[in-house]
Amino acid sequence: MVIDDLKTHIDDILNVLDDDSEKKVSRKNLETELKKFLEYGVPVDQAKQTLIKKFSGDTTFTSSPSSSERTLIKDLQPNAYSVNLLCRIITINPKEITVKGENKKILYGIIGDESGTIPFTAWNELDVKKGDTIEVSNAYTREWQGTVQLNFGDRVSIEKTDEDKLPDSAFKPKEFKIKELRPGLVAIEVTAQVLELDERETEVDGAKKKVFSGVIGDETGKAQFTSWHDFKFKKGDVIKISGGYIKSWKGIPQLTFDEKATVEKLDKSKLSGEIQTQKIPLHMLVERHGALDIEAEGTVIEIRSGSGLIMRCPECDRVLWNDECKIHGKVEGKPDIRIKLVVDDGTGAVSAIIGRELTEKLLGKTLEECEKLVENSKDGNALIDEMNKSIFTHRINVQGNALGDNFGTTIIAKEAKLVDVDIDREAKKLSQDLEEIQ
Ligand SMILES: [Zn+2]
Repeated sequence: MVIDDLKTHIDDILNVLDDDSEKKVSRKNLETELKKFLEYGVPVDQAKQTLIKKFSGDTTFTSSPSSSERTLIKDLQPNAYSVNLLCRIITINPKEITVKGENKKILYGIIGDESGTIPFTAWNELDVKKGDTIEVSNAYTREWQGTVQLNFGDRVSIEKTDEDKLPDSAFKPKEFKIKELRPGLVAIEVTAQVLELDERETEVDGAKKKVFSGVIGDETGKAQFTSWHDFKFKKGDVIKISGGYIKSWKGIPQLTFDEKATVEKLDKSKLSGEIQTQKIPLHMLVERHGALDIEAEGTVIEIRSGSGLIMRCPECDRVLWNDECKIHGKVEGKPDIRIKLVVDDGTGAVSAIIGRELTEKLLGKTLEECEKLVENSKDGNALIDEMNKSIFTHRINVQGNALGDNFGTTIIAKEAKLVDVDIDREAKKLSQDLEEIQ
């Protein structure tokens, strides 16, 4: 929309708003708010009504209060009461929970509008199904693990409404690169290559259904995907997916799409660059919370507790505490080594977990040699000392998946190498090793 048009609409709004409106509003403020609505494809009249209502406090202005007080999903804040939405049900599933010893059936799922999607929980039965367009009044929000949760409680009223109120054009797919994918985005269009593809069967509403999942990539990164429809693409194909939405697991974006999406097979040349592991600055990784198959480089600023020689349960691989597994009790542990470290590149810091093979490579010692080292040291700290000596404050390059949780972002290393190999130190170590052999 051109600015001139915008000016006219803002004039309209200002004309309606009384001079003695409770909330004074500046033209600039109105412009920002109006633009936001329009950006998300809200029809201009509806956007104007909403703003007039918001700034005048007038509840009689429109005959359709539920749509005029509407909040866009993207703007939902935690701990809000009386939230009104116009949205479409993207998924809805029953779930049994126990409340005060009694079984109760609740519903959970995802709703979406032109600005995004959000998970919801309904605490009572609802007469709606996937794909319905609904008007919601008096929902409320909470915050859980840093994200807004939408609840339909006892006060909620939900009415099915005309699909045209939220036209498909509102969900018209926009083009994204893989690195731009964020949880909550809907109507995604992505051109990418299928790098991994798995097929499994699951049950949906009592019927068997094939689900396809795997990894797709473009020149900016890789993401996981789930397709609820057989689009007949194969591993290696370059495809354009229109009409997906993004869920996330531990910060890793998951592109999800079903029979409502379109998938078009393209020539390989449509991919604008090579698909490779992306090296990304750590602040970006922290901001994204997680990512699939990335590379990062920085200085090791901490060797964290939990590093060194550990014992694992032979049954379930859990780390033992005092020879005990949380699940299997007292067991004969099998030894393992790992390094948990914090790497900082000057823009941000994340944790990384380096497993046995890579730890052996970094230390130049086998697991057995590490066990001996611990056995023969008085305080049992020899291995940690060794890790501090050869890795702490050194520059490291790690590659793997980055997972986010409440404690931050952690790279689970698939590759790790020191990139500041100190030649003097290496020479000294080599001569020491030679001495040991002689
Ligand atoms: Zn166990």
